[in-house]
Amino acid sequence: MQYYNQNTLVYLNDEFVKANQAGVDLFGQSLHYGYGAFEGLRAYNTHNGTRIFKAEAHFERLRKSCEALRLPYTWDNRTLIEKTYELLEANNLRAAYIRPLVFSGSNMHLTSSDQANIMIAAWEWGPYLGQNLLRVNISSIERPNAKSFPIEAKASGQYINSILATSDAQRHGFDEALLLDQEGFVAQASSENIFIEKDFKIFTPPLENVFPGITRQTVINICKELGFDIIEKKLTVQDIYTADSAFLSGTAAEIIGIKQVDHVTYKEEWEHSIGASIQRKYKNLVLEQENYEVII
Ligand code: PMP
Repeated sequence: MQYYNQNTLVYLNDEFVKANQAGVDLFGQSLHYGYGAFEGLRAYNTHNGTRIFKAEAHFERLRKSCEALRLPYTWDNRTLIEKTYELLEANNLRAAYIRPLVFSGSNMHLTSSDQANIMIAAWEWGPYLGQNLLRVNISSIERPNAKSFPIEAKASGQYINSILATSDAQRHGFDEALLLDQEGFVAQASSENIFIEKDFKIFTPPLENVFPGITRQTVINICKELGFDIIEKKLTVQDIYTADSAFLSGTAAEIIGIKQVDHVTYKEEWEHSIGASIQRKYKNLVLEQENYEVII
């Protein structure tokens, strides 16, 4: 996948620069130790023009991630959002995935930095996990322990855990991995939150050991708006196996149904599931379409 070409611009510390001319510091602490924080947003080509979905919430989470990692965050989010719209325009992107990254400079010590940089890049990207129903496995790799790491922060180094879990799942013929927390409950996928449907109710693990997904919160809001029961509860592997249907949520993956977990294939047709209604509503929401589905 090519993320940029010779004309692509990125935003770097208050300037727009060519992506292929923006160098990185080989002595950077972020490069060596994964000490950085990032975000993932999506801009949609709506009938109101290009609109970034939940831009404030994402940049606010970036600020909080930096705070949790003790990385200086010296930028004003309103300005960053304006600059992101300018970046999309400059790269002629109407719909895009957007990646802000805060990273520190030269520092080989294991001490927090008093200086940080920000870069924002954008590129065209379809749904991260594709559009077909997923086959996922229960990973033997656990989610990072909430007591050893601020798991609510979108910290670069944490994604080694995700890379290992997803690669392992794919090596075994699955699309994505579901990770357990330290108590053995199902926490989430490598970079998505999980929801299951059981007896016409929707369940998702509570925030304690999971990443506070903005799409997760949007799904919860959609359920409330559409009148579906939504329950935050610790889920066992058995709960996942015996669900009627299940789906993942994330900015990159959007809402995507699961057809199989390990050896278990869900019997309910995805198209008839509550998840499919939520998926349609989510699409309408991000595209700012008015014709919301009426549930009978
Ligand atoms: N979990 C992890 C570990 C993530 O990195 C992400 C974001 N890619 C999510 C869940 C989903 O979060 P959001 O809905 O805010 O994109």
